Amino acid sequence: MSQLKGIVHLVGAGPGEPNLVTLRARELIASADVIIYDQLVHPELVKWCRAECEVIFAGKTAGCHTVPQEEIEALLVKHAQAGKRVVRLKGGDPLIFGRGGEEARALAAAGVAFEIVPGVTAALAAGAYAGIPLTLRHTSSALVFLTGHEDPAKPGPTVDWRSYGELKNTTLAIYMGMGRLRHILAELVAGGLSPKTPAAVVQWASLGRQRSVAGTAATLADLSEKAGLAAPAVIFVGEVVKNHEAIDWFERLPLFGRRVAITRTRDQNSELRDKLEALGAEVLELPLIRVTKDVSREGIVEILTELGQYDWIVFTSANGVRIFFDAFFKGFPDVRALGGLRFACVGAATAREIERLHLKVECQPATATGESLADALIATGSLDHAKVIVVCGNLNRDTLVKKLEQDGRAIVDRLPLYRTERTDLARDPVADDFRTHGADAILFASSSAVQSFHEQAQSLQLAKDAKRPLAGSIGPQTSETMMKLGMPADFTAKQPSLDALVAALVKKLK
Ligand code: SAH
Repeated sequence: MSQLKGIVHLVGAGPGEPNLVTLRARELIASADVIIYDQLVHPELVKWCRAECEVIFAGKTAGCHTVPQEEIEALLVKHAQAGKRVVRLKGGDPLIFGRGGEEARALAAAGVAFEIVPGVTAALAAGAYAGIPLTLRHTSSALVFLTGHEDPAKPGPTVDWRSYGELKNTTLAIYMGMGRLRHILAELVAGGLSPKTPAAVVQWASLGRQRSVAGTAATLADLSEKAGLAAPAVIFVGEVVKNHEAIDWFERLPLFGRRVAITRTRDQNSELRDKLEALGAEVLELPLIRVTKDVSREGIVEILTELGQYDWIVFTSANGVRIFFDAFFKGFPDVRALGGLRFACVGAATAREIERLHLKVECQPATATGESLADALIATGSLDHAKVIVVCGNLNRDTLVKKLEQDGRAIVDRLPLYRTERTDLARDPVADDFRTHGADAILFASSSAVQSFHEQAQSLQLAKDAKRPLAGSIGPQTSETMMKLGMPADFTAKQPSLDALVAALVKKLK
């Protein structure tokens, strides 16, 4: 709708670890019409967007082609002028070595509204995650952010490294300096820096693949080369680096440096993901299925206007609730249009989604199956001549509907609103990471996860030199399915719980 005013949000995506973005960033990603993101933005962040959101990658492609800066600026202006809410996601903070300033100027010049949302810049994350306090009483009272990258094609101010060698009680944090590390350190020393000054490189800060080495201004270039460290990394120079040894907490976590793949949808996975990340693992979520709206069908509007005739509405998934109310509120601005409809559902997540709207769930069975929901509904004794509507997807809850029909008291209608589909893993960036680099382990927390993994195994085939993951299972039933499908478990949880699964993984990888 072009009469709406567009806007561009220049948003800091933080250093890598998705949980380090601001609440504002998360909220803007979730409501954007268009997202334009860079190389160092974690692919997980982009997945928070709406299904309808247009996602544009502006980083380097496999052929090393990057979208020219002017083209990006023109793109921002174009989409905003078309009335879109555009989120321009940039690694770290948009205004620190990120060309956010140039983009803001282009937007201002074009008369486009914009907002700038700061982010955790790489040096701050690298300091925190490598145990290097960037300032410290009695040791460092100043912090300088520098760029080591000097584009030979672009005349501009070059860094006078020698003058920074003279600074006392100062921490230097150097971005984009890995290509010239040896030169930079030599110049600092030539400028008066003691060659004994502690110095460190921190690569991929905040992520499971973080690596760091510490030495002195004299030794760091050799140490870093030997360890094979390269961009993206921050170089620190200053006495504060000494603390690394004592307070390097992150690289000591039990699953630090381990890549662990997990295999269901985001809603189902977040608890497992949190547990693994708390132990330092890098988690790869393989999105095997996706739920999409299927509200184009005729008759839905009709049913919605006839909602008042129903006694019960039944939901079997949180997605069903979300999609139903999306459609409902498009037709009716007032929740009272639901009339006296009573709510029944399966699953705690489904109930939470209904209760979020301050609606009461009157029937929810203890076991989360369609069959028990039918039993629970029948047990309410309210089904004589009642009308029940079941919100469902393409994977039908036949047991539920059949059981209610067999009972014969209620009239049961279906309201198919969504489809559960296989995702196209060919284009998924996380799946791509998995195919290329593999993982240390892959965890299965249910038979259905094993099943869907098996169905998509073709598109998840690992590259020749990718790491082959060990397969972990949550319990006997899952292990049995794995065995049947020819992918036997390498380790199994002692009890069927996520905690026990994670414990078994830690033990196995020790
Ligand atoms: N705007 C970004 C910086 C972009 S320049 C920010 O505020 O962080 C790109 C440089 O940032 C990289 O070459 C590297 O020096 C640094 N960098 C970005 N992410 C990093 C990470 N996770 N770990 C270490 N350095 C990182």
